[in-house]
Amino acid sequence: KINNKEDVIKAIETHNVKFIRLQFTDIQGTVKDVEIPVTQIEKALTAGISFDGSSIEGMVRIQESDMVLRPDIRTFAILPWGRNKGVVARMICDVHLPDGRPFEADPRYVLRKVMKEAEEMGFQLNVGPELEFFLFAKENGKATTIPNDYGRYFEFAPTDLAEDIRREIVLTLTDLDFDIEASHHECAFGQHEIDFKYGDALTTADNVVTFKYVTRTIAKIHGIHATFMPKPIFNDSGSGMHVNLSLSKDGKNAFYDPDKDMQISDIARYFIAGVMEHIKAICCIANPLVNSYKRIVPGYEAPVYITWSGANRSSLIRIPTPRGNSTRTELRSPDPSCNPYLTFASILAAGLEGIRQQKMPAKSVDYNIFELTKEELKERGIETLPGTLNESADHLEKDTFLREKLGAHVHDNILRLARAEWDAYRVQVHDWEIERYLNTV
Ligand code: ADP
Ligand code: GLU
Ligand code: MG
Ligand code: MG
Repeated sequence: KINNKEDVIKAIETHNVKFIRLQFTDIQGTVKDVEIPVTQIEKALTAGISFDGSSIEGMVRIQESDMVLRPDIRTFAILPWGRNKGVVARMICDVHLPDGRPFEADPRYVLRKVMKEAEEMGFQLNVGPELEFFLFAKENGKATTIPNDYGRYFEFAPTDLAEDIRREIVLTLTDLDFDIEASHHECAFGQHEIDFKYGDALTTADNVVTFKYVTRTIAKIHGIHATFMPKPIFNDSGSGMHVNLSLSKDGKNAFYDPDKDMQISDIARYFIAGVMEHIKAICCIANPLVNSYKRIVPGYEAPVYITWSGANRSSLIRIPTPRGNSTRTELRSPDPSCNPYLTFASILAAGLEGIRQQKMPAKSVDYNIFELTKEELKERGIETLPGTLNESADHLEKDTFLREKLGAHVHDNILRLARAEWDAYRVQVHDWEIERYLNTV
C-alpha cells in the first residue's frame, strides 16, 4: 500500500520503474495522460506538472490555461504492459489552478465535494458498478460491429470465444488491485461483463476509468475491438453500467432494516426518492451520448420508467435480493460511456438531498410495467426517462439543485456539449429514413 511520497519513491526503485503516466479525465470522462521519465518524479510530487488546460474539453479558456496536475499517490500502480522500454507506472491526478487551489470543474473534485457532504451527514457511500461491453472483430485494422462470438448470456466455450481474453482482463485488473467478483458472457452476441467489488465513490470512479482502458488495451493486443458504446447493435441488448449503491453509518449498512417492509430502511427509501426526483437531469450526465437513448427502450432489460422495485429488472431502481451488509439499491439507467466521477457525484447528491428532505418515494412496483397502458401509467403517476439527449439536457438545464452541486462550470459545459452533440445528430439523414421514405413518398 502506498501512503506517502517515500512509499512512491521506494516502489519506483523496487520495480525499476522508468516512466510515470500522470492521468486525469476531462468532463466527458476521456482519460488524458502525460508521461514523465522517472527523473521528474520529485518535481511531480512536490510542485506538480503543468499543462495547457485550454486544450482539454470543458476545462478553461485560453487566457487562463496554465493548470497543474497533482498526483494522488494512493493511485500509484504499475501498468502491466509496454515494458520493453522499461517499467511504466501510473498515478491519477487532481487538477489544480496555478495558484494552488483545486480546480472547481475537475471531475474528481466535484465528486470529493459531494462525498464530503455525505461524510458530514455521517455517511460513507459504497459504489459497485457493473460494466457491460462488446468485443467486435476488426477488419483491415478497423473496428467493425461483427461480434467476436455468437454466445448469449452465461454461455461458455466453445461458443464463447472470449474466455481467454476475459481472463486476461481479469488477471490484469487483479494486478492493478481490483477485487474481481465475476466475469461472464452477457445477453447479446459478443457482449460481456466483468464485476469488481464495490468501494468508496472516488476509488470506484478511478477504477471505472482504469477498467475501460485495460479492457480496450487487452482486446487490442488480441486483435479485436472492445467498445463501451451503449447500443452498438439495433435489435439486441445494449451495454449498461448499473450502479449499486449503499450508505454505511458507523460501519453498518444504513439501507438495511430487518424490521421494515422489504427489510430496507427509511434512509434507503429517502435516498431512492431523491434519485428518482432528479433522474431525468442525471441522465444527461449518466447517459451522455445520442446513442445512449437508443438503449433506454423496452425489451432489453434497460429501464424506461421511473419506478423502483424489489427484484424486478424492468424498474429504474432495483433492490437486489441480498440483505444485511449487502443491502443496496441498483440504479439501472447509467451506461458505461459516462464520466463516472460526475455520474456518482450527481446520484449521490440527489440521494443525500432525498435524505435531507425525508421524502418517501412513490409505491414500489412489483409487476411488469411494460404491460401497462398509457392511461394506467398516468393513473399511477409513473413517468418515463428522457427519450433523447436533447430532452435530458432540457431537464439538466432546469435543475438548479444539480447546477449548485456540480458547479456552474461543469453544468454549463455538460449542457453545451450535449446540445452540440444533439445538433450534429439532428441534421444527419439516416439510412433508416432513406429506406422508409425514398420509395414511399
Ligand atoms: P446483479 O445482481 O445485478 O447481477 P452483481 O452481483 O453482478 O449484480 O453485482 C453487484 C455489484 O454490487 C458488485 O460490484 C458488488 O461489489 C456491488 N455490491 C455488493 N454489495 C454492495 C453494497 N453493500 N453496496 C454497494 N455495492 C455493493
Ligand atoms: N444489458 C442490460 C442493460 O442495458 C442489463 C442486463 C443485466 O441486467 O445484466 O442495462
Ligand atoms: Mg449485466
Ligand atoms: Mg445488475
